Amino acid sequence: MGTSMIETEKAWAAGFFDGEGSTFVRHTKRHRGGTTGKDYPLTTVEMSIAQVRIEPLRRFHSVVGVGKIGGPYKPKKGQPYFKWNTAGRPSSHQVLTTLWQYLGQPKREQAAKVWKELQQLKTNKSPVLPMLPILVTDEHKKKWLGVDFDGTLATWGCNWLGDYHATGQPIPRMVDRVKKWIAEGEDVRIFTARMDGYHPTAGHVPAHVSRQIIEDWCLKHLGFILPVTNRKDYFCKAIYDDRAYRVEKDTGRLLGEE
Ligand SMILES: [Mg+2]
Repeated sequence: MGTSMIETEKAWAAGFFDGEGSTFVRHTKRHRGGTTGKDYPLTTVEMSIAQVRIEPLRRFHSVVGVGKIGGPYKPKKGQPYFKWNTAGRPSSHQVLTTLWQYLGQPKREQAAKVWKELQQLKTNKSPVLPMLPILVTDEHKKKWLGVDFDGTLATWGCNWLGDYHATGQPIPRMVDRVKKWIAEGEDVRIFTARMDGYHPTAGHVPAHVSRQIIEDWCLKHLGFILPVTNRKDYFCKAIYDDRAYRVEKDTGRLLGEE
């Protein structure tokens, strides 16, 4: 299958899910444990599509690659139906990220709501909840300021190479600037390579782990938590970074240097 064919199939699958599917939190009191065989309560995320005909479910399944199709189920009223569903975080996350760019806003919002609910129900024993793609809402269609973390907002004199939990001390001049911007109603976000998912000595460090470290730092030194990203978009109006040079628009000239 060529790339465009795959994209067409993804777009079809997203449209099908938009019309027929849903993402929801499922609470089960009696979930049978795989190794113990005992029942225990479980909170998880599921996605499902019910359909009288099995063919579109098979096509959908072949696009997303996960979940299973069950049925026919015979309801008390109405026609027998088949159902595709995922059962859990990894498979639901895979489906959502596969279809995300083609998914309509209502289904994206539904998924984001489910993610938020799972985040709030989180306990120490909860499995990791991988991040969803950023939900673009009107809230996000606002100009924002990106502020680098290491060397810009916090000093770089920490042992980050030895321990990715390490963070530096607040840099007062920058911290004051950020507080002033927030007071003025600016959308300020931390723009950092820490969210890259890769650490030079530890290897893979999931973005949610890095985010937590920076959020803890924010709470301690700013008194509030800023969004953390490594992604630039159209709405980013300025970047403050100790590694940046300023290039004059449309000329390539380095401002202040040439
Ligand atoms: Mg830096």
